[in-house]
Amino acid sequence: MRMILKSALGFLACIPFVAACSTTSSESSSPQIVVTYSVLGSIVTDLVGDAAEVTILIPDGQDPHEFQPSARDIETINNADIVISNGLDFEEGLLEVLASAEENGVPQFRVGNYITQRIEEGDHNIADPHLWLSPANFIEALPSLTSAINEAAGLSIDSAAQSDALTQLDEDITSVIKSIPSCVLVSGHDELGYFSDHYGCTVVGAIIPSFSTTSEATASQIANLKKLATENDVKAVFTGLGTPPEVSEQLANELGIAAVSLSTHYLNGAANYREFMLNLANQIAEVLR
Ligand SMILES: [Zn+2]
Repeated sequence: MRMILKSALGFLACIPFVAACSTTSSESSSPQIVVTYSVLGSIVTDLVGDAAEVTILIPDGQDPHEFQPSARDIETINNADIVISNGLDFEEGLLEVLASAEENGVPQFRVGNYITQRIEEGDHNIADPHLWLSPANFIEALPSLTSAINEAAGLSIDSAAQSDALTQLDEDITSVIKSIPSCVLVSGHDELGYFSDHYGCTVVGAIIPSFSTTSEATASQIANLKKLATENDVKAVFTGLGTPPEVSEQLANELGIAAVSLSTHYLNGAANYREFMLNLANQIAEVLR
């Protein structure tokens, strides 16, 4: 496991011009890449290998929509050779800090700017930020991501192996979803759009009809969702981050179907992106089979 979360001790121990710093000199000589969330961190770690130190800002298990940075996180961002984030306003609590670091000259790579975005059309068009739930998005962004890292960190990383691995993963997920008769579901918030578009699933609605977990559903929205779920013969309500369990369980009970918790926004202990995505696909397939 090469992902490194800087410990408080390591951070405090290194005071410039103090002898204790010498133990960290070899660390600081390798390029410092900061990645905002764990799923993206796994991809970047696999891509760069030992060529750079990758620091994941938002710990596995915390909601990236809502994460608020500490003073040390802000320092870490400002000392990075490059910061890689999701973009599309996913990391709501980091937007200002990332913008200010960029103004101070810290290179930024926002993956969402390099993919084919899903846009929810309305008074204000909003781009769906949940891009990591389809490996196809990373395959699309990989050449730009690799160039940005190489340029900012003075490296010459080749993305071919990572591209092959993502293509293989995409094929494996396709096989899993093809093994079920129909993939029709209700999600927690509007999080499975890229996944569903790419793998041929239909999301009839979400308990929280928003791209963010920071919103809430109204009673009439829940009633409408119940109607849609019945009409579309939905077999399970997939909930998770930001969805009140009592709301999803009540809905599932009233529909006579299962409420299944999915981990969609962080690795949740998975060893890497591949394991995370296959866990997700297999969990969906098992319930709908
Ligand atoms: Zn989300």
